[in-house]
Amino acid sequence: MALEDLNNRQQEAVRTTEGPLLILAGAGSGKTSTMTHRIAYMVEQGVDPYHILAVTFTNKAANEMRSRVEDLIGRIGPMWIMTFHAMCLRILRIDAEKAGYDPNFVIYDTQDQKTAVRNILKSSGISDKEYKPQYLLSVISGCKEREQDSEQFREVNPETPRAKAIYTVYSAYEKLLRENNAMDFDDLLLNAVKLLKSNAEVREKYQERFQYIMVDEYQDTNHIQYELVKILADKYRNLCVVGDDDQCIYEWRGADIRNILDFEKDFKEAKVIKLEQNYRSTGNILDAAYSVIHNNKGRKSKRLWTEKEAGEKIRYYRADSDREEADYTARQIGQMVRNGRSYDDFAILYRTNAQSRLFEEALSRAGIPYQVLSGMRYYDRKEIKDALAYMRLVVNPADDLSLLRIINEPKRGVGPKTIEKTQAFAQVRGQSLFEALADPDGEVLESLPGRSYDKVKELVETVKACQEGMDGASVSKIFDVLLTRTGYLPSLQSERTVEAESRIENLMEFKSVIAEYEKTAENPTMQEFMAQMALAADVDQYDESEENVTLMTLHSAKGLEFPVVFLPGMEDGLFPGTRAFDSEADMEEERRLCYVGMTRAKEILFLSSAEVRTRYGRTEYTKESQFLSEIDRKVMTGDAVYDSHKKSGFGLDTGNMDGYRTRPQKPFRKSALKPIDALSYAQQETAKTAEAPNLKAGDKIEHKKFGQGFVIDVKGQIATIMFDTVGVKKVALGIAPIRKIG
Ligand code: ATP
Ligand code: MG
Repeated sequence: MALEDLNNRQQEAVRTTEGPLLILAGAGSGKTSTMTHRIAYMVEQGVDPYHILAVTFTNKAANEMRSRVEDLIGRIGPMWIMTFHAMCLRILRIDAEKAGYDPNFVIYDTQDQKTAVRNILKSSGISDKEYKPQYLLSVISGCKEREQDSEQFREVNPETPRAKAIYTVYSAYEKLLRENNAMDFDDLLLNAVKLLKSNAEVREKYQERFQYIMVDEYQDTNHIQYELVKILADKYRNLCVVGDDDQCIYEWRGADIRNILDFEKDFKEAKVIKLEQNYRSTGNILDAAYSVIHNNKGRKSKRLWTEKEAGEKIRYYRADSDREEADYTARQIGQMVRNGRSYDDFAILYRTNAQSRLFEEALSRAGIPYQVLSGMRYYDRKEIKDALAYMRLVVNPADDLSLLRIINEPKRGVGPKTIEKTQAFAQVRGQSLFEALADPDGEVLESLPGRSYDKVKELVETVKACQEGMDGASVSKIFDVLLTRTGYLPSLQSERTVEAESRIENLMEFKSVIAEYEKTAENPTMQEFMAQMALAADVDQYDESEENVTLMTLHSAKGLEFPVVFLPGMEDGLFPGTRAFDSEADMEEERRLCYVGMTRAKEILFLSSAEVRTRYGRTEYTKESQFLSEIDRKVMTGDAVYDSHKKSGFGLDTGNMDGYRTRPQKPFRKSALKPIDALSYAQQETAKTAEAPNLKAGDKIEHKKFGQGFVIDVKGQIATIMFDTVGVKKVALGIAPIRKIG
C-alpha cells in the first residue's frame, strides 16, 4: 500500500494505530479515505484482521468502505466492517441466550411494531385516536435510545394520564416482544449494550476481539451507540473516531454532537489530528461553504483550504416558479452533457422529498435519465398510490383493486375475513365490491361488523357523492372532499410523526399537480386527469443500468461526492425550514445541512430558488433563503430575475457589497409558512388558483390595488404588466387580484 498518496497528517493518523485517536476534520478532507488506509496499514503491520472493527451509519457507506479496503489489501477476511445495527445483530445472534432470547429471535419492522401497538391499545381499552400508534412508538423509541425501560419511564414521569397511557403501552409492548421472541431496531442496540454491560464474559470476549475500533461519521452517534463504542473500546482503548462537528445532521433523531466534542474528555490520552486540506472541492465552493457554516456558534473553529484552483463561481438562479426552477436545472444538465459531461456527474439534492416530483418531471421531459436514491420515486409512494386509488374509485366504481387498497386505509376495522365475506357477497350479486357496498338495498353494507359499519358507510357515501358531483366540480375539490371526509388526511394528521408529516407534505404536493393540471388543461375533468396520471406513471420507466442523474435528499447525501451539485429550493421556510425560525438549535442544524450539501460538490455548485412556489396546494411568493445572504458574494454569480434583487445586489457580479449584506430583511411572514396543517389547507378550496385568468400579451386587466394596465408578457405563472399608475410590475397569476377587462 502506498502511504505516499496521503498527506503528512493523514499519514500520521494512519500510523497512529495505538491509543485513542480523534480525527476531527472538515468535509472532503479525506477522513473516510484515511480510515480505509489506516485499516490496510494495520493489516500490513501484522494486526490480525480478526481484531479490527469498523462501523459506519448506512449500508451504502459500509459497502463502500469494505470495497475500498479490499482494493487496498485484497480480502477483508474476518474483519467486521458494518453498520451499528448489523454489528449488534451479529453480537446478539451469537449470544442470544445470554441476553435472554432464543437465538432465532425475529426482528419487528415498522409495520410489525404498529400492529403490535394497535393490538395492545385494543386490549387495554386505550383509544387509538387519542394515542396514535405512531406517536407511542416514537416515544418508546426515544426511551430506548436513552436506555430507559418502561419502569424507569414511570419513575421519572409525573403521573399524568398521558404518562400512564404511555407506561401501559410501553410495558405491554416490552412484554409482547419478549413473548414473541422479537426485537425492534432499537432493541438491537439496546440489548447489545445491556448484554455487554451485564455479562462480563461476553464483554471481555468482544473487548478482546475488537482490539482496534474505528467509527466513521462519529458526529452522528446517539447516546446508545456512544455507549456501545465506549464499552467495546474500554480495554484496549485503540479507538479511532472520525467526524466533523459541522456535519452533524441527525440531532432530531437523537444524535448528540457532544459525543465528538467531548471525546477528549472521555479519553484523556487521546491524540487529536485535524485535517485541513480539502481534496474534493474547488476554492470557491469551499469559501462559499465556509462563509455559511461559520455563522454557527457552537462549533470547533476550523477552516479548510485547497490546492485546487478557485474554479467556477457558485451559480445562483432565481427562477420565476418552482416549475421553472426544475426546467432550468434540466436545461443546465442537458447543456453540460452536450459539452461532454456524463449524467453520472450530476446530483440534485433537495431538502424535502416532496421537491423531487418537479425535477423528475422536468428531467423526463428533457429525456434525461435519473435515479431517485433512498426514498421512493414520487408516484410509487404509498400515500400517492392511496390517493390515486380513492380517485380511481370515483371514476371507476368497478375497480376492486383500488377499493381493496383503501378500504382499510385509514383503519376502518375491516380485516381479511370481512373482506372475504364482502367479496363473496359481491360475486353472488354480480357486482363489483364498491357497487355491492353502495347498493341502495343496504344488504352488503349492513353485513359488516359493527366496528366498521359507520366508517365504511362514510367512505361509500363520500365516494358516491363525488361520483355524482364529478361533472360540475373541480378535480381539486373532489380530491379535498375524498381525502378529508373519508378520514384519510385527518388520520395522518393526528399521528403527529415525522413520517406522517412527510406523507401529508407529499399529498399536498400532489394537490399542486392537480392545480397545475387544472390551470393548463382546456377542459379539466377528473377522467382526463386520471388518464394523464396513468401516462405519467408509464413514462417513468427507466433503465437502471444506464448513466443517471442522482436525486436524493440532503440527509442521504452524507459522505458522498459529485462533480456537479444542484441545491434547489433555497427559500426561507423550505431551507431553512419553518421550525428553524423558532429555534436557534434547529437553525444551526439546518445550516450544517446546507454545509453538507454544498461540500458534496467537486467542481460546480448550483443554488436556486423560485419566486413563486406551490406547496401544500397553495401558490405563494417566497423569500430567498437566509443562507444565500450568508454566502460570501465574491464567490457567487448569477442572474437576478427581478429588479428588486438587483437593487439589493443579489446574486450579481457587480453590485454593492454592503447592500447585499444588509439587504433589508422583510419581516418573516409566519402566515405563509405555517407548519403543516394539511387539513385546513385541504379544506380551503383552491379557489384562488382556479380563478387564475388566462392572459396573453396585449390583454387589458384590472388589478384591485394598482388599477388598470396591460399585459406585456406572460411566462409560466408570472405576468409582466404595465400599470397606468405604478408602472411595470410582475404578478403571480392565481394569486394577484386581477381580472381581464379586454
Ligand atoms: P466527508 O466529510 O464528506 O465524509 P471525507 O473527509 O470523508 O469527506 P473523503 O471522502 O475521504 O473525505 O475524501 C474526499 C476526496 O478527496 C475523495 O475523492 C478522496 O479520494 C480524495 N482524497 C483524500 N485524501 C487525498 C489525498 N491525500 N490526495 C488526493 N486526494 C485525496
Ligand atoms: Mg467521509
